[in-house]
Amino acid sequence: MLNKIFFSLGITTLVSVLFALIFATKFWYVFALAFLLQILFFYFLNTVYENSLIEKAQKIKIQQYIEENRQVATVQCPCDQKNMQDVDMRFDQDITYRCNNCNKNIKANVDVKTVLITEPIYFNDRA
Ligand SMILES: [Zn+2]
Repeated sequence: MLNKIFFSLGITTLVSVLFALIFATKFWYVFALAFLLQILFFYFLNTVYENSLIEKAQKIKIQQYIEENRQVATVQCPCDQKNMQDVDMRFDQDITYRCNNCNKNIKANVDVKTVLITEPIYFNDRA
């Protein structure tokens, strides 16, 4: 870590010296200016790079969240081939998918049924 900092400072100094040598009459002025500009430039470059890394990581996180929350159901196409296919199920929007065999757009409806339950006598969570 410390080695890296000294290496960076060394290169920055070297580049600054080279620039200052071009304008040898105002050596220290050009040296300071080149040094400062390099630090500013790489600071902004680093910030932009860091932000892009954070953005990339967040996109991966979102993708992971979407994958974790996928609900897949196997449905049968109403075409003649009786093709069975895995489809992403969602309750908040219409489910349409394309059949792999007949290439037709199919809409799948989620059918929720109610059943009468009896009052349980024994509870697992009660002693
Ligand atoms: Zn089909």
